[in-house]
Amino acid sequence: MIRCAYCGAPLPISRKLAAQALQVMDEEGLQHFDLPCPRCRKINKLPRQALLRYAPRGQQSDTTKPQT
Ligand SMILES: [Zn+2]
Repeated sequence: MIRCAYCGAPLPISRKLAAQALQVMDEEGLQHFDLPCPRCRKINKLPRQALLRYAPRGQQSDTTKPQT
């Protein structure tokens, strides 16, 4: 469970949300995904690694080199 860095509330990250976030990050070359906290509404910057745990893509590598 990922918690808000400001107020400690749990952030509702679904597998679907994580997958979408990773897709956006891939397309825009981002290293973090901005997710607003549902309680305090501050923006939490989630690193790729955190999202990968929620949206396993078969193989996890940091090379970001698409095969196939
Ligand atoms: Zn918060």
